[in-house]
Amino acid sequence: MYDYLLVGAGLFAGVFAHAAREKGKKCLVIEKRSHIGGNVYCEKLEGINIHKYGAHIFHTSNKSVWDYINRFADFNNYVNSPIANFKGELFNLPFNMNTFTKMWGLVTPDEVKAKIEAQKREITEEPSNLEEQAISLVGKDIYLKLIKGYTEKQWGRDCKDLPAFIIKRLPVRYTFDNNYFNDPYQGIPIGGYNPIIEKMFAGCDIVLETDFNENREEYLKKAKKIVYTGQLDDFFDFSLGKFEYRSLRFETERIESENYQGVAVMNYTDRETPYTRIIEHKHFEFGKQPVTYITREYSMEWQEGREPYYPVNDIRNQELLEKYKKLAQDYPNVIFGGRLAEYKYYDMDKTIEAALKLVETELGEEK
Ligand code: FAD
Ligand code: UDP
Repeated sequence: MYDYLLVGAGLFAGVFAHAAREKGKKCLVIEKRSHIGGNVYCEKLEGINIHKYGAHIFHTSNKSVWDYINRFADFNNYVNSPIANFKGELFNLPFNMNTFTKMWGLVTPDEVKAKIEAQKREITEEPSNLEEQAISLVGKDIYLKLIKGYTEKQWGRDCKDLPAFIIKRLPVRYTFDNNYFNDPYQGIPIGGYNPIIEKMFAGCDIVLETDFNENREEYLKKAKKIVYTGQLDDFFDFSLGKFEYRSLRFETERIESENYQGVAVMNYTDRETPYTRIIEHKHFEFGKQPVTYITREYSMEWQEGREPYYPVNDIRNQELLEKYKKLAQDYPNVIFGGRLAEYKYYDMDKTIEAALKLVETELGEEK
């Protein structure tokens, strides 16, 4: 009999497993994929760590999360500064003085503020959707060139039908500062994410390529408690209906060039280019290899057989979440945690924060 059965071998389960092992608990891990690590997993090709499930940049404002993750790896000083490519015209992101001067040829912050004021005049009330929110933050020109096309590809929905808060994640600055994040701590783990994950799950029994839900009743008997990080609706055989997700398709290509695009992340913000962005992986670790690997990222609706990446934050899905949470109360020995089981868009730092909270309540201490 195990103390804990962990369903899924991502970051959430990893943080919990590490603390449980430190307490001498016996842990079994069941993972559907052929490897541990969940979405932070990297594959090393010709010395380059390929972020297999999308670019992962660690950033946080939480000093204790930063101290925690630094116990598992050293981080480099990578700062994310993506470029937006609109039909061959390049702009700095996030929206800052570099973006504004390129867009309008203006020079001072006051001139830029006046321009944005003039362009948002039509929005007189509190923005009620993403389009209104975007125009009121950065004006119509930037909305049309850098936001509308990208967002509609990313979410498969019209900007008028998306909630305003999605765009509020991005900083808007009146300084010349291309740092995509406002957080004081940022970087990429030197050597990639896999060594972190391997340390987290050390000492656990791990079964790969096995879907917990295919043999749920049998597995539930194997441990005193279960930490379930798979899809919440899947645990209940979708009995109340399915959550909606956005999924992604990654197309990776090896290129005989030392430097393909000069930046790790280039967003394609027009509607016509079928992919949303191209990642050039070597730049996350300042690679000097003679070849390079790029990944084109295509966004699409989730359906069974595809990976569920982004929860769709609308009222229908939120209501469904509340209903499933009620069903979950019938399983007091199952803890539902992480991005899929909580149906929440958690960044890595928030995932760690949530898992450390669970460690505290479940195992009786913070780390
Ligand atoms: P996951 O990593 O999804 O792990 C869950 C695991 O459970 C998976 O391995 C899955 O195969 C397994 N599983 C599911 N169901 C079952 C089952 N029935 N049986 C067995 N196993 C199962 N965060 C950042 O901080 N910075 C970034 O730049 C960033 N970029 C991202 C880019 C993309 C495209 C995506 C999708 C996410 C990004 N994130 C980023 C978020 C980050 O990936 C998450 O915070 C983190 O991976 C969540 O960990 P988790 O353990 O909750 O979930
Ligand atoms: N966004 C955009 N243009 C860009 C980058 C982002 O319009 O070039 C919008 C888009 O709606 C996206 C949101 O800003 O969903 C948040 O962007 P972020 O990079 O935080 O998205 P992530 O992929 O990390 O969820």
